Amino acid sequence: MKRISRRELLRNAGLLALGTFSSISCSVKPRPGSKAVEYEFFRNVTARLTYGGQTLLLDPMLSPKGALPSFAGISPNPTVELPTSPAAIIRDIDAVIVTHMHSDHFDPAAGELLDKSLPIITPRNSARVNPADPSTLASFKTQLEEYGFSDVMEIASEESESLSFRNLTFRQVWARHGKGVVGDLIGDVNGIIVTADGMPTIYWTSDTILDEAGEIEGILQRFKPDIVIANTGGPVIEAVSPELLLMDAAQGIELIKLANRYNPKVQVVAIHMESLDHCFSTRQDLLKLVNTLPAELQQRVFIPEDGEHITLG
Ligand SMILES: [Zn+2]
Ligand SMILES: [Zn+2]
Repeated sequence: MKRISRRELLRNAGLLALGTFSSISCSVKPRPGSKAVEYEFFRNVTARLTYGGQTLLLDPMLSPKGALPSFAGISPNPTVELPTSPAAIIRDIDAVIVTHMHSDHFDPAAGELLDKSLPIITPRNSARVNPADPSTLASFKTQLEEYGFSDVMEIASEESESLSFRNLTFRQVWARHGKGVVGDLIGDVNGIIVTADGMPTIYWTSDTILDEAGEIEGILQRFKPDIVIANTGGPVIEAVSPELLLMDAAQGIELIKLANRYNPKVQVVAIHMESLDHCFSTRQDLLKLVNTLPAELQQRVFIPEDGEHITLG
C-alpha cells in the first residue's frame, strides 16, 4: 500500500469536504395516495427516495470512479462507477438532501450538474472546509450557496424544531462522526428524521458511530422509526487514528437489534459500503451477521447493490 503523510491525509479529509468532478433508468413516480416508499440506491449513500409524493435526491456523489482523492492512501475515490448516468439520477427530483459536506455526500460533480434553483435541505450546522484550518469554518448552507444554489433550507439544530418542505417534515438528530480526535477532526454531522402524514417515519443515521452513551438508542426510542437508513461501511484512516469514522458491520447489527426493540416492524437499509477506499466493512461482513438474526427480522434488513430499487413501508 502506498503510504501517505498525515498532512496529505488532512488535506484529503478536507477534500472529503470538497471533492472533484464530471453524467439515466430510474424514475419512479409515486402512485397517488401510496404509502410505499421507493428507494433507488446508486452508490455509497447516493439514492433517490420517493416519499409522500416527493422525490428526494439523497447525498449526491456523482463523480466518476477515481475522480476524487484517496482517503486512506489505498486508491482514488470513488472505487466503483455509478450504475447509471448522473443525468438519470438527477432527473425529475423535487429536492436534494445533503447530510453534510464531505465529498462522498456532496461532491463538485453534484455542485456542477444540479439545477441551481433546486431546493436543498441540509442541517443547520457547520464544518471546516479544510479540517486543518479553523478559519475555514462555514455553515453547510454557506458552502452550498457557494456552488450557486439559491434555495438552501436549514433544518433547525434543536430536535424539537422542524423544517417543513411541502408535506414533509424534517428534524435533525444527534450523530457523531467518530470518537475522540478523529471525530473532532472530521467535524460535526447530524442524523435526519423525515415524516409526513400517514407515511412511515424514516430515520437516516448519516455518518455516525453507535455511541456508548446511548444517544442513538434515545433517537430510536423517541421516534420509533419504521425505516432506518444506516451507514455501516466502517471507515478508518489508520494514519490519523484506529477509531471508526462511522458504524461498521458489528455496530450495524447492534443498531438493527436496537431499532427492532423499539419498533418490531422496522425495516433497515444498510449502505455506505464498498465505494470508498477507507471503508473496510463489506456487504458480506454485514450479511454474515444479519444471517444470525431471527429469520423474520432478516427479511426486514436490506443491503442494496448499486443500482438496486427497494420498495419499503
Ligand atoms: Zn462524512
Ligand atoms: Zn460518508
